[in-house]
Amino acid sequence: MNRMRWSWKIATVAGIPIRVHVTFVALLVWLFGAGAAKGLEHAALGVGFVLAAFACVVLHEYGHALVGRRYGVVTRDRARRSPSRWRVRS
Ligand SMILES: [Zn+2]
Repeated sequence: MNRMRWSWKIATVAGIPIRVHVTFVALLVWLFGAGAAKGLEHAALGVGFVLAAFACVVLHEYGHALVGRRYGVVTRDRARRSPSRWRVRS
């Protein structure tokens, strides 16, 4: 199954693409809509909190990818990662 279907590349940093899946965008839209009932500030705070958490996850995963690159471990895809899918450059 191709898990990268329904996802968009939003940036590439250090040669590593960052993609977001449609369900994440749907979560943000839903969160905004749910929060908007209590006012736009409430909605923006909810979306901002999730985006801040997303930024932390992206930084965390970049830590894996860049350390892996430094030590010669090829990480294929953070969304699909599992130890069996990591391989060491020979
Ligand atoms: Zn981790």
